[in-house]
Amino acid sequence: MEVWEAKQKAIKVLEEKLEEEERTEARRDHHAKRPPRPCGITVHTGVGCPLACAYCYIYDMGFPGSVKPYKLTPLQIAYAIATNPYVAVGAWGTLVAVGSVTEPFLPETREKAVGYMRAIAEYLGNPIQISTKMLPPLELAEVQRGLDVLISVTDLEGRLEPKAPRPVDRLMAGAELLKRGISVTLFVRPIVPGVTDRELMRLLTAAREAGFRRVIFGTLRVTSGIAARLRAYGVNVMPYVKELHPTRQIPIKYPKDRLISAAKDLGFEVLPASCASNVRAHCQACALCRWGPCGDINKLRANLEDVMEYLEWRGYKHVDIEMRNLSIRVNVKIDRRDKIFLEQATRLPVETGRRD
Ligand code: SF4
Ligand code: SF4
Repeated sequence: MEVWEAKQKAIKVLEEKLEEEERTEARRDHHAKRPPRPCGITVHTGVGCPLACAYCYIYDMGFPGSVKPYKLTPLQIAYAIATNPYVAVGAWGTLVAVGSVTEPFLPETREKAVGYMRAIAEYLGNPIQISTKMLPPLELAEVQRGLDVLISVTDLEGRLEPKAPRPVDRLMAGAELLKRGISVTLFVRPIVPGVTDRELMRLLTAAREAGFRRVIFGTLRVTSGIAARLRAYGVNVMPYVKELHPTRQIPIKYPKDRLISAAKDLGFEVLPASCASNVRAHCQACALCRWGPCGDINKLRANLEDVMEYLEWRGYKHVDIEMRNLSIRVNVKIDRRDKIFLEQATRLPVETGRRD
């Protein structure tokens, strides 16, 4: 209920700051409607991207090769997220990932990206993470305590990212943020066979020397278009996929074990997913997916009385709940919205229906 009350409070505060038309536009926006995934809700700072990385999937999703800042103002984006019925608001609320389906720190969207993060931090307080291939601005140090910055790199030469800043400059920009006390994680994404693995040690060593301590390895997803573009760069993904599809992104089956051990040997903490880095940066915990649990699970103490109170307030009768193996078991069927909201509010899976 505490989380629900925080959500209502944030909505009220933001409503008072926005005009009627601004509220309507924000409520109609997909940020107000999309259910978050276990790893959180993604926030779009722009539409499209001109960087044309060879492995990028946004063009197959219909996004353009140029960028326009996203239409909502910072207050509107905070309001849209707060009104999203699936989202838990607050410091332990839904994880927020800024910069999906675009690059947030393009010159055209940089100001908007920082504005979005400031508004989310100030009015909602949810844990924020941003992922970039550009050089992140130093003002990030003032956005949120625990803000997590992912420096995204595929190899040290940037062979597949010809329009992005040089990877070595990205690492140096990350190092500057590290010096200012920000959480910065190396995001080796995606792992492209024959490119990332070819000189991985050089990349990891350079990152360690720059001060990076954490790394995530991200999987390459391919469509037929991406496979063709990669072929033009001399990369053949066919040994790693069974089929290709024009729009469906197929994750390649690439064994990461060798990469993970190389990183561990160099002293890196290897995290299973980007959201794990957000959780780690904010000293929190989460057990929402099979990659976890992440962080200190002793911090995952769902207040069952609160969960019960919320469900009864939502109109469910004869509710009985219990904790079992880092999940919450509810004896009655509850609708998807309540299930997702409770999962976001507790960071624990909610299993529903009759108990066995
Ligand atoms: S920077 Fe990101 S969004 Fe832009 S082309 Fe590269 S991978 Fe795609
Ligand atoms: S358990 Fe870890 S990897 Fe899974 S959603 Fe939570 S933070 Fe992400």
